[in-house]
Amino acid sequence: MSWFHWKILKRRSSSGNQGVPVRIYHEQHRRQGTMIYRAGRTTTYPEEPVEEGIRFHFLGGAGEVGNVGCVIEDPTGTKVLMDYGLAPTKPPKYPSEAPLMDHAVITHSHIDHIGMAPWLAGHHGTTLHGSRLTSNLSEIMWRDTYKVSSIEGYPLAWDKRDLDAALGAWQEHDMGDQFSIGNWDLKFHIAGHIPGAVMTEINTPSGKILWTGDMDTRDSPNVSGAKPVECDILCLEGTYGGKYHPDRKEEEQRFVDRVLDVVARGGVAVVPAFASGRGQDVIRILHEAAPELEVHYDGMGTRVSQVWLENPDLLREPRKMRKAWNWCRRVRSKSDRKKALDADVIVTTSGMLDGGPVIWYINRLRHDPANAILLTGYQAEGSGGRMLLEHRRLPIWGKNTPVELEVTQFSLSNHAGHAELAKFARECSPKHVVLFHADAEPAMALAEELGSEMKVHIPENGKSLIIR
Ligand SMILES: [Zn+2]
Repeated sequence: MSWFHWKILKRRSSSGNQGVPVRIYHEQHRRQGTMIYRAGRTTTYPEEPVEEGIRFHFLGGAGEVGNVGCVIEDPTGTKVLMDYGLAPTKPPKYPSEAPLMDHAVITHSHIDHIGMAPWLAGHHGTTLHGSRLTSNLSEIMWRDTYKVSSIEGYPLAWDKRDLDAALGAWQEHDMGDQFSIGNWDLKFHIAGHIPGAVMTEINTPSGKILWTGDMDTRDSPNVSGAKPVECDILCLEGTYGGKYHPDRKEEEQRFVDRVLDVVARGGVAVVPAFASGRGQDVIRILHEAAPELEVHYDGMGTRVSQVWLENPDLLREPRKMRKAWNWCRRVRSKSDRKKALDADVIVTTSGMLDGGPVIWYINRLRHDPANAILLTGYQAEGSGGRMLLEHRRLPIWGKNTPVELEVTQFSLSNHAGHAELAKFARECSPKHVVLFHADAEPAMALAEELGSEMKVHIPENGKSLIIR
């Protein structure tokens, strides 16, 4: 496919930021073909070595949420790529091409951080460093991405051989254990967010860096909050800069109360939730607060939960998760799915109503006004969830369909809010803070908050930031 065709494809993308100049060509047929980067042809990474200080070069994830990839390099020539994700839009959106990398750190298993790792392993033979849980979940995440892209006819930048290479490329590290990359010593810390998610402490001869990845300092049902780490340069995610979360416990109670109301009026509460994190949180919350409910759990989250339970040391309260898991009814077959229509609560994917079993359920349940859809978090622009909130309609089997049910939104986010981010940054007492994984407005809010106490950097994709 020509560069011109790729631009047309990009224009059709539903996502906002299309500024990353990724040049991709296509092997043969667009529908089943594989898109690949032309290695070395399209990277924005500079060829000259770093003379002084530490260079941060964002391939993606600067000035935007997700789609993360950042090369960090110092004058010794040691370099590491932090995450390499893709945005699962239609078509998928990629960070700009990575230069030749021997090592990448993958902070957690969400697709906007892990999605392009197969390309790295397949094309560069890159070693992938991550927690055991991230490594164990990667196969489920990559195979699902591959399957979805085949169904939707949007080719990925990597193929099945790359996926196999990536599965063999993992080097797992326990929290707190030191490991080396070139002249640097690295250490993982708990990031909150989801089980297995890490913050990375990077000790270089020019200074100590903390890369937070997606993080939360608040405890959630399945993972403990992140603790500050003193550093010279803090690379801080800023998704919720300028936004304040409600009290977590109160919000959980508001959610449970709403579920109980819906059930009391004879309805089914449909809870769309991400496969990795939110769904399991919802199961835990309901199990603790209302064990008399009949809760069915459907979608990819069931396989993810199984992997979580095989790694109990990375869960906050593994025994409680195990109990909640045994309590809920997992949907395994078509007949299970039909039975779930009589449940009190159905927890299922996708979290933003962009496909998955949740569409099937809503299509069956949308005619009885006793039923309700309870959203557990933010619904991105262009997502089915956003359309439902704004227009009370949803694309069902390709048809824009009215859904007249109650829709209530809750804020059970696993990202730190503004207050938590500011407190965390202060407690790390860095000289510099680099704000990434944030749109412009949230980044500005954090810059305003922290600017008098540390030097704030708001990087741009494709441009190097050198901190001396
Ligand atoms: Zn994440």
